[in-house]
Amino acid sequence: MPEGNESALFFCVVEDDSLIAELAQSLLKAAGHRVHLCASSRDALKEIPELKPDVVITDIMMPEMDGLALCEALQSDAALMDTKFVVVSAKAYDFDRERARKVGAVGFILKPINPATFVNQIMACISEHFTVRYWGVRGTLPVPGQKSLRYGGNTSCISMEFPKQLNFIFDGGSGIKELSNHLLARRGGKWSAKVFISHPHWDHINAIPFFVPMYIPGNEFEVIGARHGGKSMRELISAQMDDVYFPITLKEMGARVYFREVSTETLTFGDVEVKSMMLSHPGLCLGYRVNFNGKSFCYITDNEIYPEDSPHHNPAYEKELANFMRGADVALMDSCYFDDEYRRKVNWGHSSVNEVARIAHSAEVKELQLFHHDPDQTDDDIDRKLGIAQDVLRNLGSKTVCTAPAEGESQQF
Ligand SMILES: [Zn+2]
Ligand SMILES: [Zn+2]
Repeated sequence: MPEGNESALFFCVVEDDSLIAELAQSLLKAAGHRVHLCASSRDALKEIPELKPDVVITDIMMPEMDGLALCEALQSDAALMDTKFVVVSAKAYDFDRERARKVGAVGFILKPINPATFVNQIMACISEHFTVRYWGVRGTLPVPGQKSLRYGGNTSCISMEFPKQLNFIFDGGSGIKELSNHLLARRGGKWSAKVFISHPHWDHINAIPFFVPMYIPGNEFEVIGARHGGKSMRELISAQMDDVYFPITLKEMGARVYFREVSTETLTFGDVEVKSMMLSHPGLCLGYRVNFNGKSFCYITDNEIYPEDSPHHNPAYEKELANFMRGADVALMDSCYFDDEYRRKVNWGHSSVNEVARIAHSAEVKELQLFHHDPDQTDDDIDRKLGIAQDVLRNLGSKTVCTAPAEGESQQF
């Protein structure tokens, strides 16, 4: 690979054994990449945030700070948002592999380094994964203050990063401002994304005008969603910026921003497939399922699942939704209410956590993630909903696990 090749990457190798470090360096350099060596985790902590490499390769067992603690510390730096971490270690225990995954490493390669396969192993690790980041997990209204310190107070927004600079954003609630801040803090260069809108209720679009990358020339965004009440996607987004509502119009955005209208269909972006389906919510609301490299993630927000004793209970819809989510690694689902709250808010378009757990189990999803929490709920209330969902799943003898992601968290697939 010649110098200056676009696919050449910048690696930092953190390794206290100089022979191994030099072997990794010579193999990566021979493949056309740039390499910087850090002889200790202390050096790495100081140098890596300044160097902003594409990939960090780290050993685990090092004095002062082990490689996994180092990954965790560096991952929290917004400037390293695009940096991928690969662990190379002699430790063959599942416990260490799992710990590496939890601290955000995209790969785990066992020592000794095999010169014939090392570079290919590294490239496979960094090209076969995608990362999901949570920027806002609340529903309806942002909730600032003491009651939302742990889960965060922003409304719906998550992002996904795939290989080859493919990025997705789901919804533009107030969480998209956090994503905007992170993108501005990262390395320079152009940034593009497909922006999937579930539906045009305020909490899903109203912070799009505050997403600074849309004002930067050279960036490119395709906004994807359903027409609504005769209005095009462009009109749905621009109407909130019209006239007296906002001082800047869509036309003033410096990036190339264009729109695509979809309903129930399958879209492909390279190796990534996105399916959509209409959800149970006032107006048109789309749920999305993303499939990539054998992994799948469903984004199902603003969705009402009627209890089995409700006159509105709709077995055909439940079957369709369960088939849509079937076997997914994650289903992120609207879990707005406790059962008693739901009974006061039937037909508002949101679900009780008990019903969400029931349908996630019937769809055999591996992990249910609770999302779109009612603005009157505190962090402790979300903990209680999590406990309820876990009880429902346990009583069903389910293999589905349940979690509640917090703003600022990320997950590798
Ligand atoms: Zn909503
Ligand atoms: Zn809604």
